[in-house]
Amino acid sequence: MKNHLLHPQTLSVHAGSTGDTRFGGTVTPVYPASAYDYRSDIILYPRYFNTPNHRAVAEKMAALEKGEDALTFSSGMAAIFTSMMAMLRAGDHAVFQQDLYGGTHHAVLNELNRYGIAYTLVNAAHPENFKKAIRKNTRLLYVETPSNPLLKITNLPALVNIARQHKLVTLIDNTFASPVNQNPIELGIDIVLHSGTKYIGGHSDLMCGIVVSSKKYIELIRQSAIHFGGHADAYTCWLVERSLKTLFVRVQRQNENALILAEWLSSHKKVARVYYPGLKEHEAHEIAKKQMQGFGGMVSFDVKGDADRVVDRLELIKPAVSLGGVESTINQPVKTSHRRLTPAERKAAGITNKLLRLSVGIEQADDLMRDLDNALR
Ligand SMILES: *Cc1c(COP(=O)(O)O)cnc(C)c1O
Repeated sequence: MKNHLLHPQTLSVHAGSTGDTRFGGTVTPVYPASAYDYRSDIILYPRYFNTPNHRAVAEKMAALEKGEDALTFSSGMAAIFTSMMAMLRAGDHAVFQQDLYGGTHHAVLNELNRYGIAYTLVNAAHPENFKKAIRKNTRLLYVETPSNPLLKITNLPALVNIARQHKLVTLIDNTFASPVNQNPIELGIDIVLHSGTKYIGGHSDLMCGIVVSSKKYIELIRQSAIHFGGHADAYTCWLVERSLKTLFVRVQRQNENALILAEWLSSHKKVARVYYPGLKEHEAHEIAKKQMQGFGGMVSFDVKGDADRVVDRLELIKPAVSLGGVESTINQPVKTSHRRLTPAERKAAGITNKLLRLSVGIEQADDLMRDLDNALR
């Protein structure tokens, strides 16, 4: 059956998964070869992103994100930085959303100027800020929505309008939403990036990064990627293909659990404030409802008491960096992603000592509530 006739839940299981064509097994075998016969039209080589395990992930991700093609990297940062640099050259200018994932933020601040690339960081709550930052040499706009850790929402159709007026390339980090909850290409965004280490892997046991786009942009990015050399290995690709088959059941369950917990936390006596785009009181709830199919598994909240003690008293929910696993985890942005900021910078970003970021897993919500309730009291 043709992909365009199938629902995403079905595509997550079947798209790109060839199975074992030689022996009739149901799953794609691992192809670890680094030496292939050169007497064919395309020379296969892992660093060219074109071996069978790469193709399986690429086809599945392209189908899920409604793009034409994809590449699988060794990490989210490899996918992000390679894609960005493939679009830029010395003398160019790029506009970034202010609240970026810490690693991306650090890379922009420390790398771009060295390559002669200028940039501006803007508050993405108001899309006009992107427009105001555009210069004659601006080449791309880069956003991340929902953002880390305050789950701010950037209005994607408004951003696409601005980009089209000025003929700019748009890139989005879609990690927090996953392809289940947000398909930016359908909204007109050019290039979609994922840290596959999070929801796509989904079991806190692998690292990868994925870029999805048109054939034209993917070929451009692939040319740079061949130089930078950040491909994922065959075993990782194989595991990612397997993980993607359960992406919908995992993320839909995480959406449900997160909404239950966000609503429950909102009325908890020991909680000062909850950040979740699925709540009516979230400042961009209406925008999120329009551009997302679900609100995701990330919930942040300020506690009234001592955040350290709350974390220490949790039994089921484990303190950990990273996110998107089947198990619920929690962390304190002041001690993790925003550790390197000065107190003044943290205050400006709205990150308090009492902020907790919860990555909701697929457990039964009642058990998570009981664990949180015990710790908060
Ligand atoms: C984790 C993360 C990244 C970086 O991905 P790695 O796989 O750690 O390289 C980028 N963006 C977001 C939103 C992330 O959460």
